[in-house]
Order: sequence, then C-alpha cells, then structure tokens
Amino acid sequence: MEIRHKRSRQREKILELLRATKSHPSADWIYERLKKEFKNLSMGTVYRNLGILINQGLVRKIDFGSTFDRFDADVRPHYHFICERCGAISDVEMPFDETLNRRAGRGCNFEVRSHRIEFFGICEKCGG
Ligand code: ZN
Ligand code: MN
Repeated sequence: MEIRHKRSRQREKILELLRATKSHPSADWIYERLKKEFKNLSMGTVYRNLGILINQGLVRKIDFGSTFDRFDADVRPHYHFICERCGAISDVEMPFDETLNRRAGRGCNFEVRSHRIEFFGICEKCGG
C-alpha cells in the first residue's frame, strides 16, 4: 500500500540540504541548519521527514550499527570511506561491483540481492 504524504516545505528543505552536501550529515546537523527558518521544527519532525524521504526512495540511511545515523541523498549504489579519527564519511570513487552479489551467492542457496562495503582509515584532513 502506498502512503501519500502532503507536500511539506520542511521536507523539501531537508532534501534540498542533503542534495547540496557531500558530507553525509546526521539528523542533528540538519536540525541545526533549519531551526531558525522553521520555528516549530524539532528533532522528531526531522526524523519523521527523513523516514518519509527514505520510504520515497529519495534518501538513504547509512547505518553503522553504532553512534548516530547519517543520511545521503545519493541513492545510487556506491561505497563509503569512514575516517576512524574524525568520523567523516566520503564517497569512494570506485565502481559498484554488481558481480559481488552473484559471487557471494555461489555455492549456497541464498538469493543475494544487495551488498554494502565500508572502507575505514584516516582521511586527508586527519593526515592519512
Ligand atoms: Zn578524518
Ligand atoms: Mn554517499
């Protein structure tokens, strides 16, 4: 069942912000930038709108199972690099390897549909 959502200025602005940055921000970062413009904005509404954008396939959540979630308006399959010192997340300029799904599923009865790879190390700014 498809849930329709009323167009919302807040949600449009959140998407605009995410599309204008390559920094994979947190919900907190978004909130800090929009709270002046939208007086009734709360962390709850930021999270709710992010959830809707994710359901609409316009945003994806980068979930590391720890700390806080980060968000990306680039929904094409791609890999990320995470700095172990400052936590910065960058896109990795490396082609997404579609063959990995098939290779992972070889020899077992799993239907592998997707995969995720994160690279870790020290970023340029931190002296990598
Ligand atoms: Zn760093
Ligand atoms: Mn990304």
